[in-house]
Parts: sequence; structure tokens; C-alpha cells
Amino acid sequence: PVRTRIAPSPTGFPHVGTAYIALFNLAFAKAHGGEFILRIEDTDQTRSTEQSEQMILDALHWVGLDWSEGPDIGGPHAPYRQSERSDIYKKHAEILIEKDHAFRCFCTPEELDAMRAEQMANGKTPRYDGRCAHLAPEKTEQLVSEGKPHVIRMRVPTEGTCQVQDMLRGTVEFPWTQVDMQVLLKTDGMPTYHLANVVDDHLMEITHVMRGEEWLNSAPKHQLLYDYFGWEMPTLCHMPLLRNPDKSKLSKRKNPTSITYYRDAGVLPEALLNYLGRMGYSMPNDAEKFTLDEMIASFDIQRVSLGGPIFDIEKLNWVNSEWLRALTPEELKNKILEWASNSDKLTAIAAAIQPRIELLSDAVNWGGFYFQNLPDITAESFTHKSLSPEQIIEMLQLALWQLETLPTWSEENIYATLKGLAAHLDIKMRDFMAPFFIAIAGSTSSTPVMNSMAIIGADMTLTRLRHAVD
Ligand code: ATP
Ligand code: GLU
Repeated sequence: PVRTRIAPSPTGFPHVGTAYIALFNLAFAKAHGGEFILRIEDTDQTRSTEQSEQMILDALHWVGLDWSEGPDIGGPHAPYRQSERSDIYKKHAEILIEKDHAFRCFCTPEELDAMRAEQMANGKTPRYDGRCAHLAPEKTEQLVSEGKPHVIRMRVPTEGTCQVQDMLRGTVEFPWTQVDMQVLLKTDGMPTYHLANVVDDHLMEITHVMRGEEWLNSAPKHQLLYDYFGWEMPTLCHMPLLRNPDKSKLSKRKNPTSITYYRDAGVLPEALLNYLGRMGYSMPNDAEKFTLDEMIASFDIQRVSLGGPIFDIEKLNWVNSEWLRALTPEELKNKILEWASNSDKLTAIAAAIQPRIELLSDAVNWGGFYFQNLPDITAESFTHKSLSPEQIIEMLQLALWQLETLPTWSEENIYATLKGLAAHLDIKMRDFMAPFFIAIAGSTSSTPVMNSMAIIGADMTLTRLRHAVD
């Protein structure tokens, strides 16, 4: 039976690219009567967070992509979170060592840096040169018994070409000299993506790996690992990446890329899925508006075209408007209520406006901006008695960069960031905050802005800040 998966790394907000790849995995599996599962690839412990994992699961559920096995619901191949599977990867790395398909590398980061610097000085592409690949076994044993830190790397042929089959591209060739002796297990005993991904896809009985084309270059390593283990490799399908209207790779600087932003701006999940279903794909009947079930019913992976699909927010809004117009007023009312009535958010907004309102009807004026998309502002909106326009842009930009990397979005953390920045720039907190009121609420007379930022969430806040510095 066909089994596909989405394997997000919980290192940030829920990316529309993840929903796009998940959609095609789900459509393919369902069209073949198979299963679609979810696995969390959190081997990068420094960048992975629980908050990010939760947001990704929530966002995928919200958009209507459901899995039959995953960390939240379990399943026959549990655990579905790679950080809980380290023993499995260690065991498999040892198997490769025993078969001499992998070797221990004792190079320190300094040695590797020096090696790369020398290669670059000689005009070569920096690449691990295999210096530990042929250490005498006694030497290796000695270093291991001394407890010298080391990684495990895979062996790679030094000549010839690797041929990889891709469902959309046919045969793709790579010279082996371009494939590095990939680290499989790091010094701390954690696996790299490549090892964990191959081991899990095999153990979880994945039959088709559909992922972004950024991973095509990893296919030779993966194919080699499947050979080394003596496993059958899943069929590969690398999907074209989403692009900005200017054809560059979709980036948050040019286009909001978080699913949460689109949800909060009021895109219907059905419309977002519909739009993502048109990324590089067209329905056999050329329908522009279609449901997930309709997509599954006629799904044909060969209809995916490799030209980079453009994710255009104007076009998405148009698709959304088609969905909205197809509703009865009663249904539309329910959609609006559903969208607006996130209970925790409403309670927080109520608390924020409570000191300011006299009548319930005042809630519309005081609370409106929490629900808006982007405030209607221009460069003039930011005029300030003691700050220059350049200073204001710089402040907002610096704040944006710092807030983008906040591991946990909370009022406390936002406050610490902005307070630190104001001190660093030597601007009084009161003056410093004024432009943030404009960027977030569209006006300086509003509820406390850092609290507002916490309430409207990271993705909407960051999108409004980007809109302000644009
Ligand atoms: P960066 O700009 O730092 O490379 P990113 O925008 O690529 O970041 P990641 O955090 O690397 O974002 O990616 C999150 C997820 O979204 C990954 O699963 C990735 O495959 C997917 N993704 C990112 N960009 C695209 C894209 N243009 N098209 C399709 N999927 C994408
Ligand atoms: N964790 C990888 C990602 O975030 C998965 C890539 C794959 O599907 O193999 O994109």
C-alpha cells in the first residue's frame, strides 16, 4: 500500500511550503487508497522548539490536512518524533560502521576549518577530504577508547556517477565526486537529517517520498544509504519550490509565508488548500475552484509541471473571494463568527480594552485593529517630533530582525527585546514605542502595543512590521 509522509522540522512558524508539500503527499496517498503520516524531524536540538511543533500541527489541521499516524495521535511506528528515536539511529550508524560503509572521523572543528581555508585558497570547493577514511583500525580503536570526540561519516564512491530516479524528472545523474562524505551521527550522538530521514522512511514503511526540490541534491546520499542497509528505496518525487512573483524562491521579505498569517488575515482553509493545489498543478478538467476531495478524485502526479509555481497573494485573495461568494449569507456569517471567535484571543482583547470603553459599542473602535489585516498607513503616518524618518525605519527594521528570532512569542520576551533595543539606540522608551503603535494598530492612541503584539501573534505582528518598513 502507498504510504507518504510530511516531515517538518519544528524550527519556526508553519510555512505555506509545508502545507503545499503535505497537500501533494496526501492527495497522492489518498488517490492510491494509501496512508499519509506525519513525522517531526527535530534532530537539530538547538533550533527545534515545542511551540513551533505545536503551531505546525495546528496549522496543518486547520488547513484540513489530516494524518493517520503522528506524534499527536501515535500509531504502529511510534514514536513519530525523531528526538525520541536516537537509540535507533545510533544502532543503525553502528551497523554501517560494522559493514565498513561508514567511518569514525576525529577531526576537530579547527582542523576542518583549516582544511577548508586551504582548499579555498587553492581555488577548490571546500569539501571534507577523507583524511579519517583510512585510519588504521587499531588507531581508531585507540582514539575511541581514549574517549576522543568524533562523528560518523558515510563512505562515498570516489568516481563514476550516481543515477537517481525521480517521478517527475526521470533519471538524474550526479558525479560521485560532488557528493560529500556526509556526517551521519554527530559528536553528541544525534543523527543528521540524512541518517534519521532514511532510517525512519524505511522503518515507517514509506513508499513514496515527495518533498521540495531543494532536497534533490541529497538523493544520491540517501540512495547510497538504502544500498548500504540493503533496503529498497522509496520512489522519489521532488516538487518545484514556491516562488515570489519575481520568480525568486518564496521568502518572507517579499510575501508572508506563514500559514498562521493567512488564517488570521481571513483566508478560508478550503481556499488556501485550493490555491496550493494549483501550485504547479492543474486539474484534468481545468477547474480553478475545487475541493480537496475533488483534487484527490482525479489526482495525477504527472500533471505537476516543473516550472516554478508563483505564490501570489493577490491571486490567493481572488480564489478566497470566489469561495466567500459561493457561500449563503448564513454560511458566511458562521465563517466570520468562527474566524473571529478564538476564545483566548477574545478574552485577552476584552482585558486590553476594558479600561478604555464606556459602551460595548466602543469595542469596535478600540478592538478593530486586532482583527484587521494590514493597517492603512503611509510613510507620513510615522512623523514624530523627535525621531527622523530614517531613524524610525531603522528602529522598526532592527526590532523586526530581533523579534523574528524570538524562540517564544510572549509579551515578556517582546518587552525585553524592545527595551534592550531602545537602550542600545539610546532612545527614550516612550519615543521608541510610538512608531510601533502606528505599525501595529495604525494609530498612537491605542491599547498597550506590546500586549497587542502578543495577542495578535508573531506572524501577524511581523507581517505588519514588514509592511511598515516597506
Ligand atoms: P530560509 O529562507 O532561511 O531558507 P525557508 O523560508 O526556506 O528559510 P525553512 O524554515 O527552511 O524556511 O522551511 C520550512 C519548510 O518550508 C521546509 O519544509 C521547506 O521545505 C518549506 N519551504 C520553504 N521554502 C519553500 C518554498 N519556496 N517552496 C516550498 N516549500 C518551501
Ligand atoms: N525535515 C525536512 C524538511 O523540513 C524533510 C525533508 C524530506 O521530506 O525529506 O523539509
